[in-house]
Amino acid sequence: MSASTTTAAAAASCHGERAATLQQSVQAAGSAGQSAALARLATDYPRGPHDQPQTMCPAFGSLRVGLRMRRTATILSGSACCVYGLSFTAHFYGAKRSVGYVPFNSETLVTGQLFEDIRDAVYKLANPAEHDAIVVINLCVPTASGVPLDLLPKEIDGVRIIGIDVPGFGVPTHAEAKDVLAGAMLRYARHEAEAGPVARPRGDLGEGPRVCLLGEMFPVDPVLAGRLLAPMGLGVSPQVPSREWRDLYAALDSDVVAAVHPFYTASVREFRAAGRPIVGSGPVGVDGTAAWLEAVGRAAGINESQIGAAKAAALPAITGALAGSRINARVTVSGYEGSELLVARLLIEAGAEVPYVGTALPRTEWSEADREWLAARGVHVQYRAALEQDVAAMKEVRPDLALGTTPLVQAAKELGVPALYFTNMVSARPLFGAAGAGALAGIVAAQTRGRDRFARMINFFAPSAKVEAAKPAAPVAAPVTPPARGDLADAIGN
Ligand code: SF4
Repeated sequence: MSASTTTAAAAASCHGERAATLQQSVQAAGSAGQSAALARLATDYPRGPHDQPQTMCPAFGSLRVGLRMRRTATILSGSACCVYGLSFTAHFYGAKRSVGYVPFNSETLVTGQLFEDIRDAVYKLANPAEHDAIVVINLCVPTASGVPLDLLPKEIDGVRIIGIDVPGFGVPTHAEAKDVLAGAMLRYARHEAEAGPVARPRGDLGEGPRVCLLGEMFPVDPVLAGRLLAPMGLGVSPQVPSREWRDLYAALDSDVVAAVHPFYTASVREFRAAGRPIVGSGPVGVDGTAAWLEAVGRAAGINESQIGAAKAAALPAITGALAGSRINARVTVSGYEGSELLVARLLIEAGAEVPYVGTALPRTEWSEADREWLAARGVHVQYRAALEQDVAAMKEVRPDLALGTTPLVQAAKELGVPALYFTNMVSARPLFGAAGAGALAGIVAAQTRGRDRFARMINFFAPSAKVEAAKPAAPVAAPVTPPARGDLADAIGN
């Protein structure tokens, strides 16, 4: 660490002047010896049009993954305001345990005392009776200042120590921050498994080949995936992100990895190092389920007749569910979960018109089949979508329902467009198989019926706005250009 840490502390904030802040933070981190770490983050999580997170602090993704694991403690190292926000959000989303924090000031940052304080905290916490692992997360300022978490002991009395840098100026979304920690844990567990015997997962996974699902998904979906795979003699292993350290070994020991959420670049790297084949997309709708069963079955070496049997067992029920839950509406889809393209596929198979899908996540090979399927149906897919692009698309398309993030939903409602928050309403339902088809179509159908009510409400409170109850609009035919920031401010009312 050096005296440049003071500059780093001033620069590393997600609330400053955008471009200048980013550049200063990256420069400060580079001169503090973090160039290699930043280069890795830039490769794994390439930036998009927005050079700063537009969602919650990205580190929330790593924090959440750690907090959801049994026998795992998490310590944050960063500015108090960042830690306050992160711990608030973590508890809002149901964390049931404390978040560790090592505070600092200018002096402890500049002199290197902060690292000593973190190391002391790790030693105090490393009780093997309570913990399998301790995760230490460097937020923006300690990352920009070069606080060297890689110098922490790798293990204390059998407790694994995982130190990661998750700066907002290096990880564009909180979704990708989940991968930062999941990848670091898989790497550690892979080296353990290569060195000798490791613990078995709790419970009986049964005999036969298994598929590891990659991504945080609604709890019923892995169960549904297991049912879809059963006719091929395949089972599901514990997911990644995992719920317990020993599950990581079982995940690595899978025969096939299904990158249902397509942004887990670091995790895929570890699975590939373990020799596991990876397949993309997911079992959504008729086409998606058929293609996914074929891809997974072939990757697992299953013969064609068994793959055909799995399809024959699954597809009629999905066709029936879709026929029983038709959607007659135009819907735009925006989000930062990683399942946006899958949701759009399902909506289209249920009859919806979906002119625009925006995802805050980057384009990877694991969503390519979904992108091609959507593009063939005239859908504009926007990777690394900025909020400005999502709002512009919603304004242009005037959908019957907008699925999106909080600010998008707010902007839509102010225009009298019914809207649903993707994370709380869409991701909180199954997507896979017949259950997914029925659940999604049901909620969309119910919400689109609210458009006339919205129009009455808007026209009552702001008669000059004159919202029409059902305004037809041309589908988006070309890439949507982000509006100037002033336009966005108009749209979201601030
Ligand atoms: S740690 Fe998170 S909240 Fe704090 S400055 Fe960085 S991105 Fe913003």
